[in-house]
Amino acid sequence: MDEGLDREVNKDLTTLTPALKFLRPYVKQVVAASIALVVTAGATLSLGQGIRLVIDSGFASGEAEVLVDSLRLFVAFVVLLTIGTFVRFYFVSWVGERVSADIRLAVFNHLIRMHPGFFEENAPSEIQSRITTDTTLLQTVIGSSVSIALRNVLMFIGGLTLLFFTNAKLSLIVVASVPFVVAPIILFGRRVRRLSRTSQDRLADVGSFAGESLRHIKIVQSFNHEGRDEAAFQDRVEQAFAVSLQRIRQRAVLVAVVMLLVFGAVATMLWFGGQAVLTGETSAGELAAFIFYAFIVAGSVGAISEVLSDLQRAAGAMERLMELLASPSLIKDPENPSTVQGTDVQLSVEALSFKYPTRPDMRVLQDVSFTASPGEMVAVVGPSGAGKSTLFDLIQRFYVPDGGALKLGGVDCAELTLETIRARIGFVPQDPVMFAGTIRENLLYACESATEDEIWRSVKLAHAEEFVRALPLGLETKMGEDGVGLSGGQRQRLAIARALIAQPAILLLDEATSALDAESEHHIRLSIEGLKGKMTILVIAHRLSTVRQADRILVLEDGQLRDSGSHEELMASSDLYARFARMQFAA
Ligand code: ATP
Repeated sequence: MDEGLDREVNKDLTTLTPALKFLRPYVKQVVAASIALVVTAGATLSLGQGIRLVIDSGFASGEAEVLVDSLRLFVAFVVLLTIGTFVRFYFVSWVGERVSADIRLAVFNHLIRMHPGFFEENAPSEIQSRITTDTTLLQTVIGSSVSIALRNVLMFIGGLTLLFFTNAKLSLIVVASVPFVVAPIILFGRRVRRLSRTSQDRLADVGSFAGESLRHIKIVQSFNHEGRDEAAFQDRVEQAFAVSLQRIRQRAVLVAVVMLLVFGAVATMLWFGGQAVLTGETSAGELAAFIFYAFIVAGSVGAISEVLSDLQRAAGAMERLMELLASPSLIKDPENPSTVQGTDVQLSVEALSFKYPTRPDMRVLQDVSFTASPGEMVAVVGPSGAGKSTLFDLIQRFYVPDGGALKLGGVDCAELTLETIRARIGFVPQDPVMFAGTIRENLLYACESATEDEIWRSVKLAHAEEFVRALPLGLETKMGEDGVGLSGGQRQRLAIARALIAQPAILLLDEATSALDAESEHHIRLSIEGLKGKMTILVIAHRLSTVRQADRILVLEDGQLRDSGSHEELMASSDLYARFARMQFAA
């Protein structure tokens, strides 16, 4: 237990260091801010000497001119302080904003290339909140707390030096009180840091719960779940509040205790100092300067103790962001990638085996082998859970096979870049996901540079032309996040058009299981008819009309390839297929 705590304190200092890497490009701004920081700290410290001068020379001499001179000097300091403060504030905030923006970018750029399995173990909504809340926290810390801490460290060192310079004996009182101030900072600081991380976690829970409920609003309302969602959300909000409250309590105690100790020391010092002035040991100006420096030293310790917990909070946030940045993508491009010649390529699946990393005891695909030649249409059928979608995922290399190989044009996909593989594949998912934006934007998702002609050619091939033209805004029709406003059949046809725009060599079509209206089904059949021979089509088929079109049908059961042949052949030769077909295609 103790060891664990020790480690956390050690980590304190190191977890923020990755932020330094993000500071490197902005050395100029950091230097400007640092110079301003030193200048302002220097100017503030010089004020103490100004005070001594004004009191001892100005007042004591009784000459108005000396007083005017002293005040002139004072005004010069203040001007310097003002300019320095402006420069410091501007550049420090600038760097804070810029660095948190860069961290946001780095995290997103890393995650967008992550193997999809990663998001099965790390909820995307939680990651989303980390990208926003954790980086915002870093922004405040880098954009202010770090500068406050540095400024106060400078003030502390400078103030202490000048204290000794002004009056060594009195300074010893101040120094003697330091351990009493530092001890509670370390003790409470540790607790605050631990609570900070929990607090951020709870906040992420709040964000992800709200995100999920609102995204699935129709399900929520349809099940009359609003009340229970309110209660569950309140629960999370209150938990987050409770943890924050604990943190605030620790922090409040910390600040109060430090203040008490610091001002206790100041009072003692005043008592001793006052006596020294009375006996004539020290001048009044010296005592005034001493008090000024003592306040600066005390203030800086207080300020450091206060921002220390901010820094600790940021260290927690940084730790989590760095965790994300450091998690390796399990699917990477090979160092020396091969290339595939030509656009018509043969897809070979050779003794393919696969288990999901999250379920290592279940073999989802076992020894599956087949080829799909250019222009061929192959249908994959099989009961639910047979491994059909998994096969599609493996072909797109969302997962790495455990055994066997996938080859494109005779080249093992492990030797190809993900971009090479995916550029040859067009994918139509079972539930055709569309992004917010217009139909045109959704089609161009597959290929930004497609011309107007290419767009319409794909729309025609997908048999979507008629309904797109009938929409008042045509291609400019806006679609919701899930393509709200279009029927399932229409969305599927748009998804086919989107896949076709990039002119893939292989089309992976995961047919909708839901019953499409007769007209949509008819259109999709015609669309497949038009595509046949133009590219390799691999389709997870749920309809008789589709399997009848296929050149070859693969029957998958329990992850194994049981039979293959045409519909007629299989009806005659395969009991499994005949049984399956009677059930599946009865409608
Ligand atoms: P359906 O027609 O119902 O979509 P399918 O034939 O496409 O079924 P798959 O989705 O490939 O079947 O699933 C095959 C098996 O793998 C199932 O038992 C499923 O529970 C499991 N499975 C699917 N996805 C994952 C995953 N991400 N992690 C762990 N197991 C999974």
